[in-house]
This record gives sequence, structure tokens and C-alpha cells, in this order.
Amino acid sequence: MSDIRKKVDALVRPEIRSLSAYHVPDASGLVKLDAMENPYAWPAELKAGWLDALGRVPVNRYPDPGARALKEQLRSALGVPEGAGLLLGNGSDELIQILLLALARPGACALAPEPTFVMYRMIATLVGMPFVGVPLREDFALDRAAMRKAIAAHRPAVVFLAYPNNPTGNLFDRADVEAVLAESPGLVVVDEAYHAFAGDSLMAGLGSSDRLLVMRTLSKQGLAGLRLGVLAGPGAWLEELDKVRLPYNINSLTQASAAFAVAHAAAFEAQCARIRADRERLYGELTKLAGVRAWPSRANFILFRVESRPADEVFARLRRAGVLVKNLNAAGGPLAGCLRVTVGTPEENDAFIAALKDAL
Ligand code: PMP
Repeated sequence: MSDIRKKVDALVRPEIRSLSAYHVPDASGLVKLDAMENPYAWPAELKAGWLDALGRVPVNRYPDPGARALKEQLRSALGVPEGAGLLLGNGSDELIQILLLALARPGACALAPEPTFVMYRMIATLVGMPFVGVPLREDFALDRAAMRKAIAAHRPAVVFLAYPNNPTGNLFDRADVEAVLAESPGLVVVDEAYHAFAGDSLMAGLGSSDRLLVMRTLSKQGLAGLRLGVLAGPGAWLEELDKVRLPYNINSLTQASAAFAVAHAAAFEAQCARIRADRERLYGELTKLAGVRAWPSRANFILFRVESRPADEVFARLRRAGVLVKNLNAAGGPLAGCLRVTVGTPEENDAFIAALKDAL
């Protein structure tokens, strides 16, 4: 072992050394259907107005640390109830990190059903907090008895519920979510990253519990590059979390772009409506293929299992044909044999289906 390796191993915490960095594959030249992005560019009719707004941003000054104007706009655009507060993050990833940094203390743990969004577990590990994963049922519903048992045994400081869930695409039963909320001693974060495609939300219920937080992001609605996540909930929690947030976490260009986008939300909603309709078409196409099992989705992606060939081989063939999807096979368990495709433009979806037929 070289000298530097010894020094690294001696100083960096073992749980971090044993992690793999979040891997983002190179998608150059490929039809990119791996990351739940909106395939449509910034609406053309809004471009001149947006660039004009950006041209007026004083980038020689620090951003407004509290992003006050943007928060006010978001509050009404997202229907945040009276009495709830907002915290903004550099993507919802940063909000998860802020939450876990604030809650990590000896004896505290985080809990989520699995499979789910991998960053809950990863960030918990990074901040030195034990993470309890509770298997979903075979149909990807919450396992109410298993959740109850795990919550009673571990008394988690926070439970994350992705609603709809990634990568399975389903909305959990509302009564199951409410049971988790009733049975949890700590915070319950309902992560509504895919809200634009879901048709249900717990936002209006924020006032009903003092332990519920609802998280949103602009990422899936055409603004992934801006990095803006929103956490809504009781002010008493958010005031503490705000102390963990770095002062200028939302840069000026993001604040100005998001404010402009929120003021012109209809153009982005039109894109989401298109994606919702195309999701149903894509699901219909997938269910027609022999050797493929697809799960219905309330998000902008579809989970499917390839049963006639090894998933790694199908993934590689798709990639050779110029289509990048997400390969979940290595996660094993209920995701063995599974790939996940993001809904693209109609042309991209057609290219994917054609390539999948060849690959099978
Ligand atoms: N929550 C869920 C459930 C997600 O799937 C994702 C993105 N894959 C995120 C949060 C992170 O989104 P953001 O871009 O806001 O960090």
C-alpha cells in the first residue's frame, strides 16, 4: 500500500471509504432516458423574457440569503398552507442532507421503505446516521405491519416516504402513509419530487400534524439544471434546519430563473401534461412486449423487468443502439432484472421501444 493510501485510510471514516460515489454515466450522443429529466427545453416563447430577467441579476453581489421573493412566489404556486414555512435547497438532495445533519446524534436513525430513492440511505451514511430499510411488499405497496414493527423497534428520528416512489413509480396508499405518520415518533418527510405527474399530494395536510414535512423539487419539470428543492412544514422545524443551511445555497441565477419559471408555470405544466399522456402510451407499448413486465407509474418514468434475457445484456444492447436507461439489476432483490426508463419526447420513446424490441 502506498503511503498516501495509508493516510487516507487512517483519516477518512470507514463508512465513507466503503461507499461508491454517486455515479452519473456519460450520456453524450445518446437518447438520455436515465435520470427522470423533462426532455423539453425551456419554452421558446419564454426565452427572451427569461434572458432579460437574468441580464438584470447583480452577480457581483451575494444572492438574497433567504430568497424571500422566490419563497413568497413558491408559497402560493405550490399551495403551501397558511402557517407552514418553506426552506429552499440546492436540489432536494441538499434538503435531505440538511435534515439529516440536523438530526444525526448518537442513537438517532433514519428509516425508509426500500427500494426507494438511494440518497436517503447514502446521505444518512455520510452523516454517520444508521439507516433502516424496510422492504416494500411484492406489489411495491408499503408493508404496514413491517413498517409498524420497524418504527416501534427503531424509533427513527425521520422517516422518508417518496410519494410517488422512485424507482417503482407507484403512489403508496394514502391510508398507509397516514398510518406511518400516526405511528412515527419523529419526523415524516413526504418527498413529492414527482408531484407534477402524480395527481395526489399531502401538501394540504401539512397543518394536520406537527411532524409532517412535504418536499418538492423543480427538477422533474424542466428545471433540473437550476437545482431547486423546496421543503414545506411547521416553522419550528424549519427554523432549526435553516441554521444548518449554508447562507447562499440558492444562487442568484437560480433564484431569478425559478422566479421567472414560477410566474410562467403554465408553459411548464403543458410540458408535464404532455409527459403524463406519453407515459400512458409508453406503458401501453411496454405491456405489449413479450418477456417484459412493466409497472404502472404515477411519475415520469416506468420500471420494467426483462424476463427473456439478462437485464445487463438488454441494457448494454439499448446503449449500443444509442438509448441510455437506468440499469437497476445490480441492486438485486425486487429490482433484479429491472431497468427504468424516463418518459422522453414521442420520438425518443419510439426510439427506445424500437431499440428494446431489437434488444429482446
Ligand atoms: N427525491 C426523489 C424521490 C428523487 O427521485 C430525486 C431525483 N432522482 C430527488 C428527490 C432529487 O431531486 P433534486 O434534483 O431536487 O435533488
